[in-house]
Amino acid sequence: GEPVLEIRDLRVDYGFGADPTHVLRGVDLTLHRGEVLGLAGESGCGKSTLAYAATRLLPPPGLITGGEVWLTDREGRRADVLGLTDAELRAARWRDVAIVFQGAMSSLNPVFRIGRQLADGIRAHRPDLSRADLEARSAELLEMVGISADRLRAYPHQLSGGMRQRVMIAMALALEPQVLLMDEPTTALDVVMQRQILEQITELRDRLGFSVVLITHDVSLLVEVADRIAIMYAGEIVEEAAAHDVYRRPRHPYAHGLLGSFPPLHGPRRELAGIPGAPPDLQRLGPGCPFAPRCPHAMDVCGRVRPELGAPRTGEAGRAVACHLHDDGPSGPGGPLPPEL
Ligand code: SF4
Ligand code: MG
Repeated sequence: GEPVLEIRDLRVDYGFGADPTHVLRGVDLTLHRGEVLGLAGESGCGKSTLAYAATRLLPPPGLITGGEVWLTDREGRRADVLGLTDAELRAARWRDVAIVFQGAMSSLNPVFRIGRQLADGIRAHRPDLSRADLEARSAELLEMVGISADRLRAYPHQLSGGMRQRVMIAMALALEPQVLLMDEPTTALDVVMQRQILEQITELRDRLGFSVVLITHDVSLLVEVADRIAIMYAGEIVEEAAAHDVYRRPRHPYAHGLLGSFPPLHGPRRELAGIPGAPPDLQRLGPGCPFAPRCPHAMDVCGRVRPELGAPRTGEAGRAVACHLHDDGPSGPGGPLPPEL
């Protein structure tokens, strides 16, 4: 499909003054129509910041310092989200791009019934709808996410955590957005419920044709539902490819560590073993590869030159890696790759 969301060289700093922290350090990411793009990485790598920045919902002291976020609406018009006026932005939000935040289910108002909250959400964007239309649409949305319409009369506390999260997803889909951003949408739920919800999202995607960015620290979920996977480290994308390629053969040493300690696809789940070494201190990154202090393959060049995201020298189509081992340019090492990469 054609691109619906194109993030180019997006940069975000936290904190003002002389010494801000560079939290996004030039992110490039493309979401195509109808695709589920999984975005994975350890907590603190900038995944959530990316979602907030791309929708201009970044709270202070976060500051977008550069880049472009091109969004294609349903009529095929492209606009840079970072250049929209506030009014244009309000119109685009939910209609073109909707978000399900981490812990969204706790943002339901405990004193109002589910039906009223859904109807209020729809009415904010569709003041033309009659009360009966709002009710019908609310019922339809609820059933779309697998909840019986008679639950419109329920209060949030009468629903399970999984159901509340589905209600938030129904709200996000209310205006049939082109792009759905989901930040750890199922993290608070048990594994069975997580899988059910993600399966439902892919079914809805097949039916309604929207595109999804699914952000998670749990790579095992992505392997099951994502078409493509992008791995983030220290505020940048270090590898991006078709999900099965990343899973079968991660080529960036960090991606390899993240996936190598990873349970078999259909075997029992276990905690990730993790990657030796401390997560990066974004205040103290040197000029080179941010993964170098933890990388078993670090070379001299890695401490000096930051690797750029690009096609690996193995020449695989549709894969991009930011690692000198995979460079075939002047900074590349030449010679054979480590066998596991
Ligand atoms: Fe390791 Fe060097 Fe590749 Fe960074 S560029 S991941 S330090 S080999
Ligand atoms: Mg997060």
